[in-house]
Amino acid sequence: MSAPVKSESYEFQAEISQLMSLIINTVYSNKEIFLRELISNASDAIDKIRYEALSDPSKLETEPELFIRITPKKEQKVLEIRDSGIGMTKADLVNNLGTIAKSGTKAFMEALSAGADVSMIGQFGVGFYSLFLVADRVQVISKNNDDEQYIWESSAGGKFTITLDEENERISRGTVLRLFLKDDQLEYLDEKRIKDVVKRHSEFVAYPIQLVVTKEIEKEVPVEESEEKTEEESDEKKPKIEEVDDEEDKKEEKKVKKVKETVTENEELNKTKPLWTRNPADITKEEYAAFYKSISNDWEDHLAVKHFSVEGQLEFRAILFIPSRAPFDLFETRKKKNNIKLYVRRVFITDDAEELIPEWLSFVKGVVDSEDLPLTLSREMLQQNKILKVIKKNIVKKLIETFNEIAEDRELFDKFYTAFGKNIKLGVHEDSTNRAALAKLLRYNSTKSPEELTSFQDYITRMPAHQKNIYYITGESIKAVEKSPFLDALKAKDFEVLYMVDPIDEYAMAQLKEFEDKKLVNITKDFELEETEEEKKQREEEIKEFEPLTKALKEILGDQVEKVVVSHKLIDAPAAIRTGQFGWSANMERIMKAQALRDSSMSAYMASKKTFEISPKSPIIKELKHKVEEDGTQDRTVRDLTTLLYETALLTSGFTLDEPNSFASRINRLISLGLNIDESEEAPVAAAAPATEAVPAEAAAESAMEEVD
Ligand code: ADP
Ligand code: MG
Repeated sequence: MSAPVKSESYEFQAEISQLMSLIINTVYSNKEIFLRELISNASDAIDKIRYEALSDPSKLETEPELFIRITPKKEQKVLEIRDSGIGMTKADLVNNLGTIAKSGTKAFMEALSAGADVSMIGQFGVGFYSLFLVADRVQVISKNNDDEQYIWESSAGGKFTITLDEENERISRGTVLRLFLKDDQLEYLDEKRIKDVVKRHSEFVAYPIQLVVTKEIEKEVPVEESEEKTEEESDEKKPKIEEVDDEEDKKEEKKVKKVKETVTENEELNKTKPLWTRNPADITKEEYAAFYKSISNDWEDHLAVKHFSVEGQLEFRAILFIPSRAPFDLFETRKKKNNIKLYVRRVFITDDAEELIPEWLSFVKGVVDSEDLPLTLSREMLQQNKILKVIKKNIVKKLIETFNEIAEDRELFDKFYTAFGKNIKLGVHEDSTNRAALAKLLRYNSTKSPEELTSFQDYITRMPAHQKNIYYITGESIKAVEKSPFLDALKAKDFEVLYMVDPIDEYAMAQLKEFEDKKLVNITKDFELEETEEEKKQREEEIKEFEPLTKALKEILGDQVEKVVVSHKLIDAPAAIRTGQFGWSANMERIMKAQALRDSSMSAYMASKKTFEISPKSPIIKELKHKVEEDGTQDRTVRDLTTLLYETALLTSGFTLDEPNSFASRINRLISLGLNIDESEEAPVAAAAPATEAVPAEAAAESAMEEVD
């Protein structure tokens, strides 16, 4: 007596359940893409068992044939998709199909409500659920080498069940998806429709996709002389057998009969030869696009493709694609590091060979087929393999070539740079060999090119003769830097300044340092500005003239600043704060503060050394000089004004204030003054907000602020 079948019930993770009901109820018309998603999963599953078998060939023994098989079962309104892939254990079924949250689930639903197309589903890593476009119930019957055969079943809703499978035919290894089609989706039982969809979306899948077709065939059955009599008798009993009616046949070959029979046959739907083995000249753009979509899950055409072969000491062929846009999780650290499928002599090996392409190029998709690698490649071998290293070098070289080709078309390059500009910058940061070549691809807005992005090369063509360096400014946004006090002196000299407002720019520039022998200079840091003899003389005089003021200001500001200097690099602004050449810039300090896991020990060395620069041309500074000369550094107004000047300079120079409240109370006192508010009324306001260490609150309140104007 067999034990009663026990089903265990599980709850879908909330967002997945939401996604399923969204899909099951959608009015979306292009439902056929469900088949592409399921075939893609089947193909992935076969990839996985193949990869495992590289180090342990016995794993394939349970089912040596690798295939994807589609079986329409008209009477039951069921469409089955089977693969001989890795299969899922009970735990896999629970985890992979419904209980573990994926970032793509929410991202996909958000994309949908923002007008995205349902066919994008695969990109978000939730393609499996697309089956609910055409089915309202599904069984996933799966057999992994390490577990029994289980049935996962769901009709959407909030729950699914898992049952030890004791009823179905045994699967040697792999998975059968049994889709119970909705009544209005029975077209997917139709052979022609299936062939059509597979041709459109899955032509380049690397494993045979078989369609189980039923055929009426006519068979010729020889009729033995001695049997003739009895055969004829049995004819009457079996209506399907008919006598050959061709006159001539009858005369010459009386001994043969034709018999009609219904048979099922596996018809292979994707017999195309691997695209990369063909001559690029014979491949159409559409074929590349179809191939790209089949390997990438992308719904959009690629932006560019490089199809090449390398011969000589080492031989391989590759097709590499640049997508049209960045994936939603481009810089997510946990995701797969590359999108290149590695083949060895047409046999798929792995899509997880991190050694094949550097991380900054992880957005590139494609295939590489090597003639030299051994067919049995373990993970360890992949890591040390010299051939792979050479392949990688070649791939990087070819891709940079491709980027340069893209750069010849402004519009195309804009698209590319919007999507992958960060990757190029990451490349500049990480790839010392190709750094110089990659720097040519960088583009920035600038003081002379505020609308269109410009390159270093174009920048150089605009440089006045006496300009030595390439200047740039870093900050949080274009808005934040385009009115910076640091720009004035450079603008006055007609020197262009590039706006670098991506955090990664700071890192990239730290490595790049120069471009075509021209130093790259961050103008928010200390640097030597080109000057004429006359300017130099004037500067030296001003330094002398303002020396007492700089000393006084340093005395007042104390350790908050490294030094106070007279600056010829400021014009309109009275003051600014520049950082030392070797520490962090103001922008870098901001970036580091924003990093949750930063190592605070770094801040000690790297924290910006601040130079407080004052402009001798500024009326404010001139007036302050007089006031200091008259009242000295102990005067409260002098101290208060100096602190305000300093704090304001912090802000305009891209720093954040450590004590915004004391800054605010000083500003509030100025406001009160402007509004002629009586000291006694003002007092509580000042008391409420803490003043600086230099000036006690009450003292500040009654200080001679009225003298300001
Ligand atoms: P993705 O394929 O992007 O991972 P899916 O939603 O299509 O996302 O599939 C979810 C997961 O379910 C897969 O990652 C895989 O682990 C598992 N899976 C789906 N179909 C199969 C299959 N035919 N064989 C084995 N595992 C599968
Ligand atoms: Mg998938």
